[in-house]
Amino acid sequence: MNEKKPQVWVFVEQRDGKPADVSLELLSKGRKLAESLRGELKAVLIGHDVEDLAKELFGYGASEVLLADHPELKHYNTLPYSRLVSELVDEHQPRIVLFGASFVGRDLAPRVASHTLSGLTADCTDLQISDVTYLRQDYAELLLQIRPAFGGNIIATIICPDSPVQMATVREGVMEKIPLAQPVDGRITPIPYTPQGPDELVRIIERHREDNKVDLKAAPIIVSGGYGMGNFQNFQILYELAHLIGGEVAGTRAAVDAGFIDHNRQVGQTGVTVRPKLYIACGISGAIQHRAGMQDANKIIAINSDPDAPIFGICHYRIVGDVMEVIPMLIDAYKHK
Ligand code: FAD
Repeated sequence: MNEKKPQVWVFVEQRDGKPADVSLELLSKGRKLAESLRGELKAVLIGHDVEDLAKELFGYGASEVLLADHPELKHYNTLPYSRLVSELVDEHQPRIVLFGASFVGRDLAPRVASHTLSGLTADCTDLQISDVTYLRQDYAELLLQIRPAFGGNIIATIICPDSPVQMATVREGVMEKIPLAQPVDGRITPIPYTPQGPDELVRIIERHREDNKVDLKAAPIIVSGGYGMGNFQNFQILYELAHLIGGEVAGTRAAVDAGFIDHNRQVGQTGVTVRPKLYIACGISGAIQHRAGMQDANKIIAINSDPDAPIFGICHYRIVGDVMEVIPMLIDAYKHK
């Protein structure tokens, strides 16, 4: 009798037929996981008019794309999407299901996990297959779900041995997106969809794209402000400096919480990870959660009134002083150079 091969599934997130980077990164990683398990990699794709995208996924190693295509599925909608994925998981019992740790993945994955009574590790930064039979005899070929824990102080390896399906969400950008030189000869399996009453709790009338979305990852220079900037008004001076030197403005979580700057510009463990050529930290203490997002910058200049601020431990140039004195001096010097 032919034993069923273990299946690794990736939920492929799409917007207007374009895949999310994190989904392609997960397919690339999923290929390796499937190889280790001598199994198959499959993609789950939900949307409308997305057959071209389904074919594109063969180029990332998916041997089968489970495709639910319907006008009402054009945009992500919690109830129909989670119902579809949960029913598919129930029916096929894949070994592993992976989601991006995006707004969509963070909404969808817990619902599927709770429906299938599976464990779920959020915000993983690495995944591996390993035998941990030294812990228990039957812990063979488990998914090791690796992520920072306790405020980033340790890297935890998490297993869900009693879970029927191993599930994880994975942060964007931590895995490499590797297309195959030659796409696999895969197949598309249509998944029927029938709208149901409760699905209509949410109706998407119109979608607006945020125009001021900033790409901090691509910025060569970042001028970043912390709680030490004092107030919203003071914070505006950072835009002037950034504009002069061709940079973007970012901030710490304390600055975001205080309303000095928008959340989409937060750098750190729960914000964006950046590696600019130059990072100017203004009134930032240098908490570990902030450093996690910026310590790989090529050069770091820190301005802080406290000579013992931890940020001085990782910066290349230190300026001990009041931000509201030092930054105007920098702006002035730059204008007259
Ligand atoms: P503070 O720690 O209050 O530091 C302000 C600094 O400004 C001080 O060093 C002070 O000496 C200096 N200062 C004050 N006045 C002046 C002045 N006039 N001139 C010059 N310097 C001055 N934080 C993040 O940034 N990003 C994250 O993604 C993030 N994620 C987190 C996740 C978790 C689970 C937790 C628990 C925390 C997280 N934090 C994050 C919060 C983090 O722990 C710190 O609280 C935060 O980074 C502190 O921000 P700050 O440096 O702006 O403020």
